[in-house]
Amino acid sequence: MIVGVPIEIKNNENRVAITPAGVVELVKNNHVVLIQKGAGENSGFTDDEFVSAGAKILPTIEEIYASAEMIVKVKEPIAEEYGLIRKGQLVFTYFHFASSEPLTHAMLKSEAICLAYETVESADRSLPLLIPMSEVAGRMAIQEGAKYLEKPLKGKGVLLGGVPGVPPGKVLVLGGGIVGTQAAKMAAGLGAKVVIMDISLPRLRVLNDIMPANVVTILSNEYNIKNAIKTADLIVGAVLIPGAKAPNLITRDMLKLMRPGTVVVDVAVDQGGCIETCKPTTHEDPIFIIDDVVHYCVANMPGAVPYTSTLALTNATLPYVLQLANKGWKNACAENAALKRGLNVIAGKVVYQGVADAWNLPM
Ligand code: NAD
Repeated sequence: MIVGVPIEIKNNENRVAITPAGVVELVKNNHVVLIQKGAGENSGFTDDEFVSAGAKILPTIEEIYASAEMIVKVKEPIAEEYGLIRKGQLVFTYFHFASSEPLTHAMLKSEAICLAYETVESADRSLPLLIPMSEVAGRMAIQEGAKYLEKPLKGKGVLLGGVPGVPPGKVLVLGGGIVGTQAAKMAAGLGAKVVIMDISLPRLRVLNDIMPANVVTILSNEYNIKNAIKTADLIVGAVLIPGAKAPNLITRDMLKLMRPGTVVVDVAVDQGGCIETCKPTTHEDPIFIIDDVVHYCVANMPGAVPYTSTLALTNATLPYVLQLANKGWKNACAENAALKRGLNVIAGKVVYQGVADAWNLPM
């Protein structure tokens, strides 16, 4: 199969959908890989590395779309790309159709086959192509939180690890799923005193078993949260209720309970946030302050670490890319139920319930 990888042209997207390691695997399986010139640059991969791995470099995005049978991308196509996508072409990327009606209609019109990373779903209902980005965001939450705790960046002036003779900082993590677990591990590694809260007792049991001694698990409820935020230096919002807006676990009133310079990193901001005062920010302007509490609410945290994010994402996507290239989308989806759940649009028809419901379209 001819596999094409364009440059991501969405604003501030620095990842690339394939690495030289992925090219080697595809070429070994007798596929042709076309990479747009410079596609890997912002993730630290040069055109020469791609060529050495066996890829062919094409100068323009138009040539990539015109030649490839399968397009592998990171972000959803933007308006400039709509017209480049061809009838029958397979496009494998994040689409998030339910948040864009114009994209949905453009892809229906293109008559392409759209397989969305975010709806590839394993038998245990986990989302294997979203997990890596949650892992990145969870770990990053502590790095960013530690940074904004510094006084010149408006924080309390607390070093999370403390020093001999001085107690460590306190980190509160709300939600013990993928993001929360990675955040708690990072904070614990720095030597902080960590509390992780979840509403799921089974989840707290698992966390209690796997976390080091400086991580304490506490059931998530209003009373416990109110208590914990009084002394926390850094609070990470990592709650998810699938298919719904995140609950406001910390309301505006509750900010008064926190000490000045406390930092909140609301990773769940992409689902509305679990701290009432959070609104989405960008890497260019990541924080704002309300009631002396520093709010960090970047909706696309992994975008700041494209080298790590590209490797994490492609580690997860490559096995699916290989199956699609080796077998064609029809056979690959027939044999792999997780991949089949990724099908959102086929040749002008919506085939994913969530997308049909979002825009009132027939299935
Ligand atoms: P997850 O499903 O693995 O974990 C969510 C956890 O929240 C679950 O353990 C659940 O039991 C818990 N929870 C639900 N209600 C709760 C409550 N009231 N109190 C405490 N815990 C509660 O989800 P995840 O992969 O960890 O993702 C968390 C959030 O991070 C999502 O909104 C996701 O979209 C977001 N995210 C954001 C970025 C970013 O760049 N900002 C990147 C990746 C993920």
